[in-house]
Amino acid sequence: MEITTDTMSGKKQAHLVAVNNSCLLHAEVVTPFSELKAAAAIHGFDLQIISGFRSYERQLLIWNEKASGKRILLDDLSHPLDVSSLTDKQRIFAILRWSALPGCSRHHWGTDMDIWDAAAVPADYQLKLIASEYDPGAPFYDLSCWLRQYSKDFGFEMPYSVDRGGVAREPWHLTYAPLAKRFEEILDLSYVRSTIDVNALALGDAVIEYLDEIFLRFIENPNRING
Ligand SMILES: [Zn+2]
Repeated sequence: MEITTDTMSGKKQAHLVAVNNSCLLHAEVVTPFSELKAAAAIHGFDLQIISGFRSYERQLLIWNEKASGKRILLDDLSHPLDVSSLTDKQRIFAILRWSALPGCSRHHWGTDMDIWDAAAVPADYQLKLIASEYDPGAPFYDLSCWLRQYSKDFGFEMPYSVDRGGVAREPWHLTYAPLAKRFEEILDLSYVRSTIDVNALALGDAVIEYLDEIFLRFIENPNRING
């Protein structure tokens, strides 16, 4: 299937398929994911997706609410930040640790998903999606270890398993690499610039001002699976 700027930026959904009635994935990811899920089940894991495809509008809402302080902004240790004490640049870079620039989220592609293990916790467990839930001794540590070892066999990789100073460590984030690599090839600075609507994006003028740095630190290198 051809990749266009509309499928890159989460503005088009025709190529997506609902999985477990709860989230959308790219049609080409559904079979590999079900194979990974079946293999995980043999080892006692109930691999579930909390977040798959995310639209441009949804990412824009998350961004704007974090920029305005309406939605909580976390520091590197997952503690709340006081937005009013930060400069525009500090605010943008704090948002980018945990949330992508609208148009630049890997979740727009339908190739990426946030996962957890429903078999490891009680039915009423409130998933927080923080690194300490995936660390040694925590409920999703065993799944993390299993994925690190075996997800490659099914084409999946974990692009944010290591904190390289850009996007924070996200041990819950899986990507279907064969397809995601095709999206990555198009993800250059001119594409990113074309996705920015300064009228709709909070702190948009400051994002433009620091775009070269943002691109290198949060979009290009951290997003490259092999980079
Ligand atoms: Zn994610």
